[in-house]
Amino acid sequence: MTQIVTTDIAIIGAGPVGLFAAFQCGMLDMSCAVIDALPELGGQCSALYPEKPIFDIAGLPEVKAGVLIDNLVAQAKPFDPEYILGGQVISLHQDDDTIFHLVTDKGREIRAKAVMIAAGPGAFGPNRPPLDNIEEFEHTSLHYMVRNPCCFDDQTIIIAGGGDSALDWVNDLADRAKKTYLLHRRDKFRAAPASVSKMEDLVRSGKVEKLIPYQLKGLTGQSGQLSAVKIADLDGNERDIDCDHLLCFYGLNQNLGPIRDWNLKIQGYHIEIDPTTACTNREGIYAIGDIATYKNKLKLIATGFAEAAQAAHHAYGIVNPGQALHFEYSTTKGLPSEEQKKERA
Ligand SMILES: Cc1cc2nc3c(=O)[nH]c(=O)nc-3n(C[C@H](O)[C@H](O)[C@H](O)COP(=O)(O)OP(=O)(O)OC[C@H]3O[C@@H](n4cnc5c(N)ncnc54)[C@H](O)[C@@H]3O)c2cc1C
Repeated sequence: MTQIVTTDIAIIGAGPVGLFAAFQCGMLDMSCAVIDALPELGGQCSALYPEKPIFDIAGLPEVKAGVLIDNLVAQAKPFDPEYILGGQVISLHQDDDTIFHLVTDKGREIRAKAVMIAAGPGAFGPNRPPLDNIEEFEHTSLHYMVRNPCCFDDQTIIIAGGGDSALDWVNDLADRAKKTYLLHRRDKFRAAPASVSKMEDLVRSGKVEKLIPYQLKGLTGQSGQLSAVKIADLDGNERDIDCDHLLCFYGLNQNLGPIRDWNLKIQGYHIEIDPTTACTNREGIYAIGDIATYKNKLKLIATGFAEAAQAAHHAYGIVNPGQALHFEYSTTKGLPSEEQKKERA
């Protein structure tokens, strides 16, 4: 029988906003468990762009997304949040009027007095091109994200897609790779103009070759290692391009999945909240970060951080009914001493 985790706050989603919520809960002396469908912490920052610099985090002029996640984990560490990774929360119900009961698809059970949903675009995954034998190459020579750019040193790579991610990685990897192809179905890009002009410069210098208008048709290789990719133009004329790696950036598929069944007010792929508290329509359930919506919502990490603070302060009243919260700055309250940590445990 699996052990049931009992905590004050269950945070669904270990992206940057869920991680900062764990810190905020800790500062208010509330314990928390952070649950994520992915096997690692960091949400979009870790899964999609760990090596990319972010420039709009307050107080950090430039920080790589992966480093931001390391910092958020370190910031929450004094409060020892319990991380439950690799399982999607598939059910959420209230046992009685107070306790929420969450279950993951891996059979883990969590009981909490309040719930914060920091689930971003839902349990997300990359859009995969419809190629017959794709599983054979996935994560060895066919990639949906770049974890370690050194893997592409002196390799022949094909980058497929026409959005920001595809263009950013063309621009970043062109100097490392032996040869870089950019494959797209039309000669128009949904990317920042500066990225498009940088890519065009690389094409002019011969470092990048465009394969346009083409689509992926097939994969050739052995034991997970690609040797060539078959592509076809809009008239169906096919070509084989020799390569070592294929990087596909066709966006994310958004799937709120089970969250739709939790009687929350849903707008498209988002949960409606009161931005002054991050409360949803269900008492004790909050939504923060990309998944939360209200008038003029900005989907930024900075916005999500503020929502996490609002939610934690409001949830204090649910976790500690009848106790007034005396607002304190972190500079006044400080972090828990070793002795205080032992007392809590
Ligand atoms: C290429 C790129 C560049 C970006 N650049 C910037 C930038 O410069 N500045 C900026 O502010 N923002 C940027 N963003 C946006 C930023 O990454 C998001 O706003 C941020 O990640 C949202 O954080 P979050 O914690 O709300 O959600 P996410 O990071 O999406 O994390 C949500 C987590 O919830 C998990 N989850 C979902 N449903 C469940 C479930 N049912 N059970 C368990 N787990 C679940 C998911 O697996 C995921 O790990 C960028 C995004 C991309 C893709």
